[in-house]
Amino acid sequence: MTVSKFIMTPELAETREKLCGIPGHLAFKQSLVEQFEGSWTLSTCPACRWQALYNTPKDQDAHLQAVLEVAAERLNEDLIATGITPRFRKCSLSSYVTGDDKAKQRALSICRKYADKFDEHRDAGRALMLMGEIGTGKTHLACAILQCIVRHDGSTGLIVTAESITQAVTDSFRSNSGPSKTDLINELASVDLLVIDEVGMHTAKPGKDFTPGLLHEVIDRRYQLIKPTILVSNQKPEDLHSFIGPRAADRLRENGGLLAPFTWKSARSGGSV
Ligand SMILES: [Zn+2]
Repeated sequence: MTVSKFIMTPELAETREKLCGIPGHLAFKQSLVEQFEGSWTLSTCPACRWQALYNTPKDQDAHLQAVLEVAAERLNEDLIATGITPRFRKCSLSSYVTGDDKAKQRALSICRKYADKFDEHRDAGRALMLMGEIGTGKTHLACAILQCIVRHDGSTGLIVTAESITQAVTDSFRSNSGPSKTDLINELASVDLLVIDEVGMHTAKPGKDFTPGLLHEVIDRRYQLIKPTILVSNQKPEDLHSFIGPRAADRLRENGGLLAPFTWKSARSGGSV
């Protein structure tokens, strides 16, 4: 059973039957397709696309144009599948402002190196923890890394909050028709890079709810598959075990797991995210 609770697909709008006008090409459903950058593009006749891809000399513009369009559509699907919300879609490594602040420069450098060498980290299943004060740009940099590895490595990625995992599993207990807990964990384990955001934000009573055990299961599953996880939290590294369990905390540190500390005070009032 294929289940997509977290992995999104582009929204479609204003779908209607359309004929391209070329004899022999059947009517197709034309839609406006959501683009990651915020615009919408019209889908095109699939018969025209097929003709350009497979029945047109490879040096002709129509063929080259179709190849470019297919690549752009796949990239758009992969970017939207990350779950990066519109608020964070313009966040890149180069748009993260550090000024002369050495601590900010260090955090950015760790994130940039992680993205640049992602093929090595992916092969090693090496984790990265972004930890520190709220409003210091941790989610900005986590989203920037995700975009980077999707655009440049052809990898798949996903960002979810700890709360959304808990909510999805709670919903699965209440419904017989939706995905099961196993389906949900399988989906979170399926991507090349998973970012778990806001760990420790919504756990009012550590040790008294099932979020830590659940996060442990997700992190451990990815550990078993040698797949890297980025964990984002406003908690202190030494307190992390209360929110994901001690074994998962060890898993993240294993094999050279990296830590980027965000030790300065919030700049949210100045518009940073
Ligand atoms: Zn056509």
